[in-house]
Amino acid sequence: MLQMAEPFKKMERTIQTETMDETIEILRGVRLLNPITNFDEVVDVAVSKDSIKWIKIASGKSSGLWLIPGLVDMHVHLRTPGYEEAETLETGLKAAIAGGVTCVGMMPNTSPPLDSAELAVVLKLQGESLGLSAIEPIPCVTKDRAGLQCVNFQEFAKSGISCFSDDGSPVQSDEALNEAFSSLALFNGLVIEHPEVSSMAAGGAVNLGRASRETGTQGIPESAEFLDVKRCINILRKCSGGRLHLTHLSSPESIRLVHEAFLNGLDVTCDVTPHHLVLNEQEVIDSGPIAKMNPPLRSEESRKKILEMMKSGFVTAVASDHAPHPHSKKTLPLSSAAFGIIGLETMLPLTVDVLLREAGMSPLDIIRLLTTGPASVINTVVPDVDVNKPLNMVLFDPQRKWLYSDTFSKSSNTPFLGQMLTGRVLRVWLKHELFREGEFV
Ligand SMILES: [Zn+2]
Repeated sequence: MLQMAEPFKKMERTIQTETMDETIEILRGVRLLNPITNFDEVVDVAVSKDSIKWIKIASGKSSGLWLIPGLVDMHVHLRTPGYEEAETLETGLKAAIAGGVTCVGMMPNTSPPLDSAELAVVLKLQGESLGLSAIEPIPCVTKDRAGLQCVNFQEFAKSGISCFSDDGSPVQSDEALNEAFSSLALFNGLVIEHPEVSSMAAGGAVNLGRASRETGTQGIPESAEFLDVKRCINILRKCSGGRLHLTHLSSPESIRLVHEAFLNGLDVTCDVTPHHLVLNEQEVIDSGPIAKMNPPLRSEESRKKILEMMKSGFVTAVASDHAPHPHSKKTLPLSSAAFGIIGLETMLPLTVDVLLREAGMSPLDIIRLLTTGPASVINTVVPDVDVNKPLNMVLFDPQRKWLYSDTFSKSSNTPFLGQMLTGRVLRVWLKHELFREGEFV
């Protein structure tokens, strides 16, 4: 346990000598889930305006609420610069806080593409000035995100940036991918691949199979994903070093390949999205463009297999792939509507509910997928919930049923809006309390 026995006595003495005007609130009977220390106990926690003063085994019964670290969402589209009609830094980061996400990995398919260190630093600082979630910029692997010629990784390394992606597209050129692995290995850098064989996915809108037949639109096969996973792993295998992360995997075969490569000693990880865990292709058949995403929602058989693989520990992170679009781009016919849904506010409830109920995973293992898992992949600080650490934590009710009726995002493209969800973020602290019961404090 963190600092339970002897240090607590000291803490209590410290509190007694503090000035009278410091308000200390006791969160009673909360289940503290801390993946850093593998701590999972029902405790009472004393919180001042900027830190935890003490943590003790609960004196009374459990409240049923969870106290967890602020979440790290390693795959977020903030749409700035260039697409501010869909999202701004402020609206995106407010949606993040409302979802309990205190650190976001910002994807580079902006306009212009995020391929310069100057722009990455400006965005990070602009994010910081808002006093909301931290931004970890994830710039392009290749210039102009064109998939051909690598950016100058060293320029980014000087600013402490080590993770790169051409997300929205794969890194098209084998040579560029090879160069990226070799160059990034010098400073523990990472390539995050959006795995897709573009020629196989081109023109497709939904899963190849029942969804493509029933909607009469062109399908995208799972092989369009896992054949690119295979290509990337083969290139990495021939390099002397390098790290690869495969994002938003929708095919069990992709995850199997990642796990096989990991067992063979390669530094390969992957994430899945909450919507691929919760929904199958029936959703796009029933709801149309609002449930159109890339990769598409797959068959129920694939979804079930992925849940099994989650339980077996084959997946390192869950990431939202928060992809805001204006109403006009999601109300087009299925074949031409934009791909993607917003997901920052629904990531925690959807993930916890489906992995508890359908995969039988432990709460601590689920929270790991949303905190230490992604943080270790993108080399960011792992949020800790402990005495005298800066506040970075979320109070979550895993049982609470609530109507997801409004969003802080500038866009509202998600099939979950208007639905009853199970599990609600009640409060969020980041340096101090920021969010409580649906409103910013
Ligand atoms: Zn992507």
